[in-house]
Amino acid sequence: MPATTPPPDTLPPYGGLMAQTAVSPAPTSEKNASGTCGSRNPSPAIIDTLARPLHDLRISVTDRCNFRCPYCMPKTVFGRDYPFLARTELLSFEEIERVASAAVACGVRKLRITGGEPLLRKHLPRLIERLARLPVELTLTTNGVLLARNAQDLRNAGLNRVTVSLDALDDAIFRRMNDADARVTEVLAGIDAAAAAGLSPVKINCVAQRGVNDGEILPLAEHFRGTGHILRFIEYMDVGSSNGWRMDEVVTARDILERIGARHPLEAIEAAYPGEVAERWRYRDGSGEIGVIASVTQAFCRDCTRLRLSTDGTLYTCLFSSHGKDIRGLLRGGASDDELRSAIGAQWSARSDRYSELRQSGQPVIRKIEMSYIGG
Ligand code: SF4
Repeated sequence: MPATTPPPDTLPPYGGLMAQTAVSPAPTSEKNASGTCGSRNPSPAIIDTLARPLHDLRISVTDRCNFRCPYCMPKTVFGRDYPFLARTELLSFEEIERVASAAVACGVRKLRITGGEPLLRKHLPRLIERLARLPVELTLTTNGVLLARNAQDLRNAGLNRVTVSLDALDDAIFRRMNDADARVTEVLAGIDAAAAAGLSPVKINCVAQRGVNDGEILPLAEHFRGTGHILRFIEYMDVGSSNGWRMDEVVTARDILERIGARHPLEAIEAAYPGEVAERWRYRDGSGEIGVIASVTQAFCRDCTRLRLSTDGTLYTCLFSSHGKDIRGLLRGGASDDELRSAIGAQWSARSDRYSELRQSGQPVIRKIEMSYIGG
């Protein structure tokens, strides 16, 4: 075991190591406890019942995808006859812009475009152009297969960064993880195109599932070491109600860090901002950064600052929600911007979600909305 990474049995509980090396947190943004959003953009962040400031809005622009990842959109459920949303049910780009603008007046500073697979939505750069006018960081999550041909247009339209999902380097395992006929080389070409277009640092997300792709953890880490891209491993989660999730298929963040650290010593680094999802680590030899997103074994609900807008205009306050607030009805009913701000303000300030914290405490089983519908 290299001198730098302490032997596994002396590693403090995962979060503890952070505590030892963390430096003072970044300054908190102005908070607004009134529950009423400001009228100007940007305005101080409204807070929920656990004093969590609204910071991120994740916007799903389609419920369709060209992959069928069993942990998110299993083919057995999302088959040929699955009733995907009709075009008229989707929020238009103008409607999405109105909601995003109202959310910025409630404190949002970061927008993430998701899906399904967002690059399947026609004319997506036009939406990016609209949202890029807002005072926010604008990011997008994609499975990467269509990225090589779209990266430059997205960048020109005003996109800041992309996150690409890649669950394996081995094509056979990759195909098993996405249950589609996509090849790893297509995704790697997308990552290169994104970096060339200036959409960097490119973040790469891998969902690690025991007995399926956990053998790819080290090959992926070694592939992206020294590239400047940031690889993050996500603990397999019980999202939605279709993936047949089991705890014994979860590869814990601690296990992932030990596997990599045994070969390439790691040290913890501080979060870039309060509420950042991934725990950040860097290679002691300076060859870059990796992250782990430990929603199952290290719940981070206490810092969760994320609101989600579904493809058909419903606001959800948690990835594991079973119900949300319809905002499309307001939009198509002639609501003013003030009314939109009030609706978002009311939804957030009443929020008390902390599903992941309660996961192990045997809370009632609920029919959760599908991740492919609200985009992770
Ligand atoms: S479980 Fe819900 S509240 Fe907790 S971190 Fe995830 S989205 Fe946020």
